[in-house]
Amino acid sequence: MKRRAKIVATLGPKSNQTAVLRRLLKVGVDVCRLNLSHGDHDWHRDAIRKVRKLAGEQNRQTAVLIDLMGPRYRLGTLEPRRLRKGETVTLGDKRERVDLPVKKAILTQLHPRDRVLLDNGLVELRVVRRRGGRVTAKVVSGGPVASHKGINLPDSALPFTISRKDHADIELAVAESADYIAASYVGQARDIHSLRRAVRKAGAEIPIVAKLERGQAIEHVDEIVVAADAVMVARGDLGVEVPLHRVPVLQKLIIDSGRRHGKPVIVATQMLESMMERPRPTRAESSDVANAVFDGADALMLSGETAAGDYPVEAVRTMARIVEEAESYARQRPHQDTTLATLAQSDLPHRIGFRDGPASTPETKGHEIADVVAASAVFAARNMPVRQIVAFSQGGFTARLIARYRPGAPIAVLTTAPAVARRMQLVWGVRPLVLADDVRTHEDVVHLIDRELLSARLARVGDAILILMGHPIAERPLTNLMRIHRVRK
Ligand code: PGA
Ligand code: MN
Repeated sequence: MKRRAKIVATLGPKSNQTAVLRRLLKVGVDVCRLNLSHGDHDWHRDAIRKVRKLAGEQNRQTAVLIDLMGPRYRLGTLEPRRLRKGETVTLGDKRERVDLPVKKAILTQLHPRDRVLLDNGLVELRVVRRRGGRVTAKVVSGGPVASHKGINLPDSALPFTISRKDHADIELAVAESADYIAASYVGQARDIHSLRRAVRKAGAEIPIVAKLERGQAIEHVDEIVVAADAVMVARGDLGVEVPLHRVPVLQKLIIDSGRRHGKPVIVATQMLESMMERPRPTRAESSDVANAVFDGADALMLSGETAAGDYPVEAVRTMARIVEEAESYARQRPHQDTTLATLAQSDLPHRIGFRDGPASTPETKGHEIADVVAASAVFAARNMPVRQIVAFSQGGFTARLIARYRPGAPIAVLTTAPAVARRMQLVWGVRPLVLADDVRTHEDVVHLIDRELLSARLARVGDAILILMGHPIAERPLTNLMRIHRVRK
């Protein structure tokens, strides 16, 4: 595998045809995202099943991410019109005669001086007063408004809620064994906890991706990263909710937090936006993709480019090429030792509440040992020629620990659980391999790793590899052992 950063592609009307989807997987999509703000369940179910089938045909562990709509507010139905700067407008329940019909839940949260942003922030209002069920606001930036345009309320402390639609979408995710669920508009760690409870109640443990896209979430980045299994820099809404000029810096801060806590970070939205209509990106987009790699992102996401654009396959191919070029440059820069030293010393997992995915809650001490072993492997791989760093992993925890040090050597994770293998597709540089056989002893593991690496052509006989595992296997401990091994036939 040449590319280390992963690619997430959103599926939509331009990419759910078998022929297109097959090519998307072939050119390098690691995770398929379904945006539940659009489409119905039949559409999404069909798309998920197609992904599973085509990934199976290509022997790939492609992951499926279900992105919930969450508490996204929209205008009700209205006649399209143009709001002019300085004009006074009313917002209220649709039963009354108002300029802009909105849900009651929104009205009760609005206070004088709060901003109301419409249509991705293109139109800005400021609340003057609320009286009865009606809010009066002044137009600060004018522009066209129409039915169902999105509303952002950057100054209001809107509570995170799980709507009836979200619950139904969670059930779909559980029924179709989605690999990740993304949570839109979370504000703090407890929002992740409440979503996790809802998913559990629906009958499964599905890892949660927290989308950081509200000002409130930015004040709680670390606690959200700790509570979630992965995070997304959701630059679309983020650029509306906080001043746009802060987005590049926030992207770096969020990625750093993910690295420290061993949680994968996705950079999302408008990465190759112009490729919706053209076969080539702008220079700025090309730089944006490369810079997300330099920032240390685990995965880069395409939205409209693959869902509704005219060049979905080209967009993925272009992204992959830019990533590879950026990575080959980054590898030649000798600054990685500092990263290893600072990460290993500053943020031992126990101090930051590391959690091993939703499935288990191992002891703090185990986490510390696993991290020291992971750091040792990265150190070893830098000081001797190593073909692969191989983690034998039950839940993918060790693989995430290794990945956060961004080693030059390839990382393979071997697991007996296909679901774990698929989840690893979001993690920087990790190549998942599924073991068909059950393993009982330490020697079983070593033998199977040799066999798998040889058959996948990831190593040759005599190559040095590093094997990380928990010993004794029967007790399923966290990683506590590194073995330097030469591949045997
Ligand atoms: P969305 O999330 O596409 O679901 O809005 C991504 C973003 O806001 O950037
Ligand atoms: Mn969003």
